[in-house]
Amino acid sequence: MIYLDNNATTAPDPRVIDAIAAEMRRGPSNASSLHRWGQRAAASISGAIASIGRSLGVTFDQPGSSRLILTSGGTEANNMAIFGIRPHSPLLVSAIEHPSLIAAATAAASRGRNVQTIPVHRDGVVDLDILTSLLAGHHDPGAGRGAADSRPVVAVMSANNETGILQPIETIAEICAAAGAHLHVDATQSVGKVPVDLGSLQIGSMAMAAHKFHGPSGVGGLMIAPAVQVEPLIVGGSQQLESRGGTEPVPLVIAMALALKLAVDEMDDAIAGMLAKRNRFESALRSSHRDVVIHGEAVDRLPHTTCVSMVGADRQSMLMAMDMAGVAASSGSACSSGSSPPSHVLLAMQRPKIEIESALRFGVSKFTTDAEIDAAAAKVVDCYRRLRR
Ligand code: PLP
Repeated sequence: MIYLDNNATTAPDPRVIDAIAAEMRRGPSNASSLHRWGQRAAASISGAIASIGRSLGVTFDQPGSSRLILTSGGTEANNMAIFGIRPHSPLLVSAIEHPSLIAAATAAASRGRNVQTIPVHRDGVVDLDILTSLLAGHHDPGAGRGAADSRPVVAVMSANNETGILQPIETIAEICAAAGAHLHVDATQSVGKVPVDLGSLQIGSMAMAAHKFHGPSGVGGLMIAPAVQVEPLIVGGSQQLESRGGTEPVPLVIAMALALKLAVDEMDDAIAGMLAKRNRFESALRSSHRDVVIHGEAVDRLPHTTCVSMVGADRQSMLMAMDMAGVAASSGSACSSGSSPPSHVLLAMQRPKIEIESALRFGVSKFTTDAEIDAAAAKVVDCYRRLRR
């Protein structure tokens, strides 16, 4: 099987697997226990969080610094941001967010919260003029004072999981800062793939998940900037300064820190390699058929992702045929594949129906080889030839 579904999840790096196994063999590890094994676990978590901070260009857990709240992954981090940060203030969410964020916003709206959608241009990039005017509509000079901060929360992802299209987060952060808005960035697809320097970005919170950068599933985090308050989603334990109850999974946290360090240390080569392979794959598809549409080609994209419409072939039939042929890909967010709702991302980009019906997502990784790319492209082209109406 050739694995080209690296936006859904990545294969754990063998070095990370070794680190998890070594930590588990060390014995029980509950960072809340007072005995020395507990103290060792607590020290391991602190060390891992400090390492994650270094990888992201920021210091965590010092007086007055940013914090990293450990979560089970990107979904929980996004939910925590939407339900826990300024939970009653107006919420502006980009139209192309991941379902974990959109569903949280929809739930908040059903409970009476003022939620608005920020549209994207046809190229998939957030409409900054509309963001600015929506924020101007919420301008309230007294909103930041008093017990409940009612200044808006804005959620824009750094990179889209279906198309790989990158958003101008630096500019969005400036717009939000000028309006006193809290900016939450779902960086689940970017962390470990492209440089993320929290030290130079004015963002209020950021979601990440280890399984997207060759770490384990089941662990991630919500970074919060200094002075940001979060109401807990999960209560019942005093872990993590009461912001997220539950015993911390020490082996997974250590593994996340190592996976991120490896990803950052090896990033320049990884980006060059993934870009070359992604482009090689796109060229092979395009040279075989003129009807292939590559989404977001004209704007900045993640180096490893391509969203391709194989026009005239139904995407679910293509996925099944490719699976039979030995190529693993997806028709969008992993959370929605299996069912077949049209991509809300491509709908927001106003793509025609025939492109939406035939859109597939392929994602390479730093471990993908040229031989795999050539073989996968040949198989995909063959499936397309057979299924095209
Ligand atoms: N946000 C984005 C952009 C994603 O791509 C994903 C996973 O596909 C998530 C959030 C959810 O992350 P997790 O699967 O770790 O809950």
